[in-house]
Amino acid sequence: MRVVTMRKQKNNKQECLKMALLDVIKYGHPTLRKVAEPYTKEEVDAHFIDDMLETMYEEDGVGLAAPQVNVSKRLIVCSDHENEYVVFNPKIIANSEAVKSDYEGCLSLPGLNAKVERSEKVIVTGKDQNWDDLEIKANGLLAVVFQHEIDHLNGVLYIDRADLSTLAWTDAPVVDETLRQQPTTIEAIQHVFAKKYHKNSKDRVYEHHFA
Ligand SMILES: [Zn+2]
Repeated sequence: MRVVTMRKQKNNKQECLKMALLDVIKYGHPTLRKVAEPYTKEEVDAHFIDDMLETMYEEDGVGLAAPQVNVSKRLIVCSDHENEYVVFNPKIIANSEAVKSDYEGCLSLPGLNAKVERSEKVIVTGKDQNWDDLEIKANGLLAVVFQHEIDHLNGVLYIDRADLSTLAWTDAPVVDETLRQQPTTIEAIQHVFAKKYHKNSKDRVYEHHFA
């Protein structure tokens, strides 16, 4: 997930040298619509975690899910500027009835945002990188990030839940100049993304096919 106004955040330089940036796949790539597989303890890879975090920070994101880097596994990383979270097999075990609607963006849908209604508070369980149990009580931005990222593990994108009357191109430079800050539709963004990101790919998948 991306928050347009966030300041850039970096790990210390020394650590960065060992990390590699991963390619974030874009809307239309079939992996984004798959239900990701659970992790086992043996599959935990410290380098991959570092790369996920570095990619998230580099892209000014506040959250990243493994399927966004074309790894269909249940891992998310999040940051709320104070704390960093790495959660394997995350699960929302409780969410508040109180909801809040705010703009969300996504690294897999660059240049777009829309309003999404989410629970104000959630409790997330899962495993950390040492495979110890985690339980995180999140509210505010962090609660939204967890809901957004866990959706990715189930092949769900924020545009599936968004108020589509608010769907619009931001002022990000990735889009055609004439489209900036203009309202748009799902059909229109599929057209733009097909041209920009999937020119040579035949197996584009935009819709989520719920089982
Ligand atoms: Zn996202």
